[in-house]
Amino acid sequence: MDTIIKDVLHPTLGRVNVILEGNKIKRVTTDYITDSEQRYEFIDGEGYVMFPSFVDGHAHIDKTVYGLDWYVNDVGYERIDRIVNERDRRARINFNYFEQASRYIELSLKLGVLHMRSHVDIDTQHKLKGLEQVLEARKKYKDLFDLQIVAFPQSGLMVRPGTYELMDEALRMGADVVGGIDPAWIDRDPKGSIDAIFKLAEKHNKPVDIHIHESGDLGAFDLELIIEKTIAMGMQGRVSISHAFCLGMPNDKVTKPLKEKIKNANINIINCYQAYLPAVPPLKELMEMGINIAGGNDDMRDMWTPYGTGDILERMQLISMKNGFRRDEDLELSMTACTFNGAKVMGLENYGIDEGCNANFVLVKGRTISECIVTCPSDRIVFRNGKIIARYGENLF
Ligand SMILES: [Zn+2]
Repeated sequence: MDTIIKDVLHPTLGRVNVILEGNKIKRVTTDYITDSEQRYEFIDGEGYVMFPSFVDGHAHIDKTVYGLDWYVNDVGYERIDRIVNERDRRARINFNYFEQASRYIELSLKLGVLHMRSHVDIDTQHKLKGLEQVLEARKKYKDLFDLQIVAFPQSGLMVRPGTYELMDEALRMGADVVGGIDPAWIDRDPKGSIDAIFKLAEKHNKPVDIHIHESGDLGAFDLELIIEKTIAMGMQGRVSISHAFCLGMPNDKVTKPLKEKIKNANINIINCYQAYLPAVPPLKELMEMGINIAGGNDDMRDMWTPYGTGDILERMQLISMKNGFRRDEDLELSMTACTFNGAKVMGLENYGIDEGCNANFVLVKGRTISECIVTCPSDRIVFRNGKIIARYGENLF
């Protein structure tokens, strides 16, 4: 049976009735609709805001210990400490990637996160085990959840011989995006690292998404190299830089031209705006420049961080806070980052809440988008392909 949602608040059109047919949004209308239409199921949308289905643009689905015993974090303070600790610890506890990825997907679905770009570790210790099991989880939930996988050489692509070949195999197996990490800090060879990433991208005809945590001038230098390579390879629109903290440094002389170059090379920026970060890319400024900047949860309850709930609505709140947003229209920018802009990064088709779009959306209890972002209510109704799949925090499939 098809569905009519009555009197729901649409972010741009106001109070509307939404008619779903099959897996599509057939009509969004202010016309009066009576309950006598027998072929429709009516849902009272009054008091709810209609959000496009949430997009987590940067996740690590293979890492979470959510649902397991509390993980006591006694890891060293450097990034490399966390990398080595995780690699070794996962080997000792015989980490079950399939089970953890499945848990993460089920959690995401009940919160309204229907699309995720997740990095999955590829290294010479665990080889392709994590990827194999995450691919299994993706298969299990394929009708409900869009999972885009980035082959992620977290331990380094150049510093650990054999990683390039594993990345090559990962892309053959079904990874969708070529990942990378700190070409200087971690990989110790900026040009070599970036050349290798783009070589894999060309060979497999895949987009690129590189973690750049490097701050200050070093980060800016690596960004320059990525921009140059993107243009040289004609990959404008197919390259993302995750984090790009250096864009938040207070040196306009460096960041201003860099932002212009990012815009001209049509590179996506993805940032997660964790509270403990000293500098982050300015969301509003980049959006106003026309740069596609998306948000994500990044690590969620794993060996890197004890924090995170998997909730992208909560992430919108954190993004707003980190950017110092108070005005309602500014808070709404964080919604754009975690919906439309993430969808653009992932290349989702027919995404949105207008007529003709796929009927994937979330009704969130509240009076405005900003109120929903501030209160993060658990009262949500999640639609996938025109059907309700979760309500009040419970999955119904
Ligand atoms: Zn990450």
